[in-house]
Amino acid sequence: MVCYVSYVQRKCPTCGVSFEFDPTSKWRPFCTRRCKLVDLGNWMDGVYRISRPLGVDDLQEDEALLSQLMADAKTDREKQ
Ligand SMILES: [Zn+2]
Repeated sequence: MVCYVSYVQRKCPTCGVSFEFDPTSKWRPFCTRRCKLVDLGNWMDGVYRISRPLGVDDLQEDEALLSQLMADAKTDREKQ
């Protein structure tokens, strides 16, 4: 009898491709590093857009994220 316990098909949340889920993978639940980074980028982009109208006080619970967002905003302004 063959045991399939470790064989789990998952759909990548980023690209929708079915892949063999590896519980030890660094990129889970994504199929590849690229898809994980894409998802992270989308998330950061969303946070960035949502955060813009908010005041500094709204972000004080995460100063690291705030300083990252401020740095990004500065970079964006310099590019324009
Ligand atoms: Zn993927």
